[in-house]
Amino acid sequence: MQNERSWTEINLSNFEQNLDELKKFFTPGINFMQIVKADAYGHGAFEISKKAIHCGATFLGVANVQEGMLLRYQGIDTPILILSPSLESEIGLILENDLIPTISSLEFAQTLDRKTTKKIGIHINIDTGMGRSGIHFKQALPTISKIRQLTNLTIEGIFSHFSAAENDADYSKLQSERFKGILDELDIKPKYVHIANSSGVITSQDDYSNLVRLGLLSYGVYTDPSLKNKISLKPVMTFKSRIGQIKTAEKGESIGYNRTYTAQGKMKYAILPVGYADGYDFMLSNKGKVLIKNELCNVIGKVSMDMIAVDITKLNVNVGDEVILLGNEHDTIKAENLTSLYNGSSYEILCQVGRRAKRYYYENRKIIASSPLLRRDFVSFDYSDDKLNTVIETAIEQRLQSKEISNLIYSDILKRFFTERDRDIHYRRKFKHTIEFKDSASSPFSRGNTRGLKNYYLTNTTLTFTKQLQNDHFYVACANSEKLLEKYFLRKDVEYRWLLDNKLEANLFDVTSAKINDIELYHEMKLKDGCLEIRCHHPQLKELVGKEVEFSISTQTFYPKDSHQLSVYLIEMTQGVEICFVYENVLKNVEAVPIFSGRSKFPKITSAKGSITISSQPDEWVFPTSGVVFVY
Ligand SMILES: *Cc1c(COP(=O)(O)O)cnc(C)c1O
Repeated sequence: MQNERSWTEINLSNFEQNLDELKKFFTPGINFMQIVKADAYGHGAFEISKKAIHCGATFLGVANVQEGMLLRYQGIDTPILILSPSLESEIGLILENDLIPTISSLEFAQTLDRKTTKKIGIHINIDTGMGRSGIHFKQALPTISKIRQLTNLTIEGIFSHFSAAENDADYSKLQSERFKGILDELDIKPKYVHIANSSGVITSQDDYSNLVRLGLLSYGVYTDPSLKNKISLKPVMTFKSRIGQIKTAEKGESIGYNRTYTAQGKMKYAILPVGYADGYDFMLSNKGKVLIKNELCNVIGKVSMDMIAVDITKLNVNVGDEVILLGNEHDTIKAENLTSLYNGSSYEILCQVGRRAKRYYYENRKIIASSPLLRRDFVSFDYSDDKLNTVIETAIEQRLQSKEISNLIYSDILKRFFTERDRDIHYRRKFKHTIEFKDSASSPFSRGNTRGLKNYYLTNTTLTFTKQLQNDHFYVACANSEKLLEKYFLRKDVEYRWLLDNKLEANLFDVTSAKINDIELYHEMKLKDGCLEIRCHHPQLKELVGKEVEFSISTQTFYPKDSHQLSVYLIEMTQGVEICFVYENVLKNVEAVPIFSGRSKFPKITSAKGSITISSQPDEWVFPTSGVVFVY
């Protein structure tokens, strides 16, 4: 942080403690929705959501489709409710991102029902006196009965919102009674019923709801002073800056725009590099206080866009010293107190500050994450999958000067990598394949007689590579026609395929050993639709799933003498390839013709007596469909 002009520290441990304090007010069976709208009140929706989910949040609440979508892109799969009414034009994205819309009118419900192709869960918002969005409580019952007839919508939740839970118990009671009145009349019971915001959790109890929506109090800011003796909260956000310059003024000199502050005597003041553009509210002009070395200092003059001046006459401080503008360290600079100096809103100042300042996330006093200054998390439509595809396609086309070839490359290779969104791509490393030909007469095949096999070489293969283990089993497949074998190239659970000569019976292929790390696997062979499937498995593999492991597969089979060539292909991205063909005593001259794609087209070819090896650099990536043909 040494280099920052201003920044926020988000204390996730405080956040967790606040949630614990709030949970003490939950009646049994209550779940909570973490409200993360407006980037979690300026605290950062992603980190706050993760923490809240860790602490038991079963829902997240956002303001609009964009906020929900962003969390989905960031990998959050908890149910997300869009609290505000959505626009009709947003319906597509709501469905696509699996978000829950709030229904505040029959018209929107009807449009949603028309536009959706699958059944979608909704929450209905009843306006019981908030006077904002939602179906007015007097129209609630007839409207809900019409919504119920819309066959694509499932009413999963029904909710209302308090207008003044923090300090108007009577009005909250009235709202709660109106809501209960509707619930009593309904002959359906939605799965989720909710009314309380974070203040409501403390001030208002009811016997009908099973979900609460936690906002400001969870961020450690009191919505009303009266709550202080009921719950103990700690601010999550601290906003800091540092002294940029130290100056002095003589009596009568003015400071800042429009001369709103005049020095009453000789004084010393500091310029801080934050202003209203950083979220330090303009209304704090001549009113704000900041904390330097545990001393409160007055903001003097008007808050500028990028600077403020503070009185440091009594302090002994230096340029670069830290300044706390908002946060936990002193009551005066807690959000609710600082904003009370200008009758402002603590909700607002958190959002304002969160828009610009770099955030450092702390847990148990350690920084666990940060997000950069001026960062705006958003999902850019310029770089939707479709747009990105077009950019890539055009780029290839320009390089190749041929639309036809670029289309081919694109659709064949790139589309597979980039556009099948849910496709996992797996890589192999340290790929080593050895194929050894022997005279079939000299080594009898274990499971059959060798008569009729004199036109074949006994063939032993060993393949080793490392890869992330996907499952507690995998298959080796073998068939005697390319067509039959084809389907195994598409299957993710097949690690080795062998094409048998078409005159051979499938049972002339056998796995002699299959290992993962040092575990010798069980293997069973099955004949299925003319193909041989060998399932390799072991109970111990369960614990290795997801880990990088070493595969080792050895086979024995036969290869026709009159074929005069043997091909080996790679079917996955592979780093470090070595393919070795051993033919001692059975063949004289063998040549290797590599077909490599990747950065280097020319692997190393090493010939020795009775063997030939091709190898790539150990850290070189080789693309699928690369391979080698051995010609004899
Ligand atoms: C913002 C919001 C909340 C959270 O309110 P807090 O006062 O911050 O706890 C709850 N419900 C709805 C519908 C909201 O829009």
